[in-house]
Amino acid sequence: MSVTVVVGGQWGDEGKGKITDILAADTDLVVRYQGGSNAGHTVIVQAEEFKLHLIPSGILREDCMCLMGGGTVIDPLVLAEEIGNLQARGYSCDNLRVSYTAHVVMPYHKHIEKLAEQARGRDSIGTTLRGIGPAYTDKTRRMPRPVRFRDLSDASQLRKLIEDQLTEKNIIVQHKYGQPPLSAEQVFEEIWPVAQKVSSYAVDGQRLVQDALRGERRIVFEGAQGTFLDLDCGTYPFVTSSHPVAAGACLGTGLGPTAIDEVIMICKAYTTRVGAGVLPTEDEGEGGQLLRDRGQEYGTTTGRPRRCGWLDGVVVRTAAMLNGATCLAITKLDVLDELATIPVCIGYEIDGVMLDTMPSWPDDLEKVRPVYEELPGWQQPLGQITAREELPAAAQAYVERIEELAAVPAKLISVGPSREQTIHI
Ligand code: GDP
Repeated sequence: MSVTVVVGGQWGDEGKGKITDILAADTDLVVRYQGGSNAGHTVIVQAEEFKLHLIPSGILREDCMCLMGGGTVIDPLVLAEEIGNLQARGYSCDNLRVSYTAHVVMPYHKHIEKLAEQARGRDSIGTTLRGIGPAYTDKTRRMPRPVRFRDLSDASQLRKLIEDQLTEKNIIVQHKYGQPPLSAEQVFEEIWPVAQKVSSYAVDGQRLVQDALRGERRIVFEGAQGTFLDLDCGTYPFVTSSHPVAAGACLGTGLGPTAIDEVIMICKAYTTRVGAGVLPTEDEGEGGQLLRDRGQEYGTTTGRPRRCGWLDGVVVRTAAMLNGATCLAITKLDVLDELATIPVCIGYEIDGVMLDTMPSWPDDLEKVRPVYEELPGWQQPLGQITAREELPAAAQAYVERIEELAAVPAKLISVGPSREQTIHI
């Protein structure tokens, strides 16, 4: 048996999809443990590109079972579309399962999120408007009881839950935002045809995981977003509504923390972030634009340009601690190929004091001054290299510096988007 958690060590978009897909080759079960269709993983298989939002990246491996765990929130419209797209490209999705207990993103969640973000104006959180936050808010409110995945198979139950929800939500829609009320019947009519399609994937996800653990299976828990978007550990309030950190793998899936053997933290060779919030090593000039262009840093889900900056050793060290990382997968090293020198942040200075881990109070983080060292670049393409020793000396030194800063060894180095462009250590 082996239980591995794949977690993003920065603000998401580190390349978790590619690494999960590689691990899935030797895995029996891949479990998505949090988030919803606000995630976007891109996987390249033999030059074919797959953009997955909800479905775990293991779906591209025939023998791998994939579960959307109870900690995720599922938009049935997106799920049906994603299954349809995969089936049209020859992937049956027969191995897909969705936990009964996952909460459902309904059309009214998306509607309310849009109204709320519009009302916030310049103070908007910069969400993806996929209804994820409102769905998690309903989950924690508990009453009126929100729609969960198993409810999608029962028309009268679904209708009643929608009516209960809209009795409350329409007060907000009408009186807070001055918009016409939503019709419960219309929402039901929109969801029911799709619900009938996707409800056949519903299972007791917790039992599925526990049976896999008892059956000594190889399981990968796949995180979405990244450590500093975690609701508790991230740069609050500019965070997501769930728990991307490794501990999140245990929430809602049936996994106890002591069953985890390995936490692979995905660390991009530089830093990016989407939306608002602090980003200490952001480069708004030419350097950032070079990273954006060479790294294709535009959102998989939204197409938004990502904010780009240099590797932040403080971020990486803090993330390694928060996740209990046992190893790193360093991704997108090839994006740095052209640079003559590469700045790396090795500490923060705040009020004359040097810090090597991140302050958890956002106002303090706003005040830090990143302290950089310049490492030599390698100025040659890495895309064809398959062994660590074959990397140019400067690239080896760069990898070693990341390992030092994170205090965790690298196990994988990714030098291009395809499966083959991966150095296994
Ligand atoms: P995720 O959400 O963490 O899976 O990351 P994304 O899918 O949003 O972003 C990763 C993007 O980088 C995808 O388009 C991948 O195909 C691509 N990618 C992954 N690893 C590498 C790499 O090592 N080099 C390059 N150039 N691209 C990569």
